[in-house]
Amino acid sequence: MRSPFISVRGRVILNAEALNMTESVGNYVKHRRVPVVVNRGGEYLTLFVPAISGESIAHGYQALLAREAGSRGLNVCDLCSKGIFLKSNNEKVLIKSFEKHFDREGIKPEDIKDAYDLEKFVIRGCVVEDVGGFLFAPAGGGKKRIKVSQAKRTSNFYVGYMIPAAEALENAVIEPQLHSRYALGTEFVEREAEGERTQGQMIYYVEIASAPYILSFDLDTRYIGRITYDSTHAGELVVSEKERKERIRAALEALRRLILELGFGAKRTRFLPTIEWESLAIAVSDDVWTVPTPFTKDYISRAQKKLESVSANTKLYTYIRDGKKTIEEVLEEAIEDAANRA
Ligand SMILES: [Zn+2]
Repeated sequence: MRSPFISVRGRVILNAEALNMTESVGNYVKHRRVPVVVNRGGEYLTLFVPAISGESIAHGYQALLAREAGSRGLNVCDLCSKGIFLKSNNEKVLIKSFEKHFDREGIKPEDIKDAYDLEKFVIRGCVVEDVGGFLFAPAGGGKKRIKVSQAKRTSNFYVGYMIPAAEALENAVIEPQLHSRYALGTEFVEREAEGERTQGQMIYYVEIASAPYILSFDLDTRYIGRITYDSTHAGELVVSEKERKERIRAALEALRRLILELGFGAKRTRFLPTIEWESLAIAVSDDVWTVPTPFTKDYISRAQKKLESVSANTKLYTYIRDGKKTIEEVLEEAIEDAANRA
């Protein structure tokens, strides 16, 4: 059975975004920042720049995957289908998430005897946890109804922090914006005394950032639908071949929507950023083959050079703004190729 590996790297300009906030101090909400080291003429320079965490992107991807899988009639557990990714972290969560699946499988929690049983049950019952992994780690080792002390499944997709592109590091900005919820002229505002503070007017600051960000996303389909944790059963397929193909298709369609709709991040209701894809490279391979980092702008030519010397039956699909093909066309070609290899 073949297992396509999909590697995506790209550059996208995001203006006036508040997609990943870290903390609020009083009425001040901070944007995430990370240190980045660059070589500037032989000297290493550390800069603190705006960033969007891999966790944030992973959450968005899994929410898209839950919807995509659900619309295809594939199993998604109760909590994942609501965008709550506790992912079987203890017995209570597992039993609550999979109430319907216990009925479907005709078993009870007590029938799950070991980590193999548990991983098989969760893979079959939830595409999000099949693709995105889970960690069953009950307090004190658990063993109340489910006789398993721990089990884990590593995610089959990989994301990293979005940081500004190398040549834009010094020009990436974070700026606090003042906002007010203004209610003067209503009965809800109390004027304490002339010239003094007015109650009822709330001011707050939100840090927004603007930068050309880089995105990295890999999807390894090898273990989708297969056992990974128990070494004697590792690699065993626990869904049908047809179902595995459908799950890979759902994972690819969620990836398409992640890129086209930039379907992740916070504060989108009032800080929806302007989004302009500058370039994108998608490699579809029969085995692990990743596109070089888009941190430096020559990444597409470096990817082509890499392909000349190393290939896993790799096909490279590239998009450049103002090029011949639209980003939708490039994505369509890459996703069809990947789906046909499954
Ligand atoms: Zn789930």
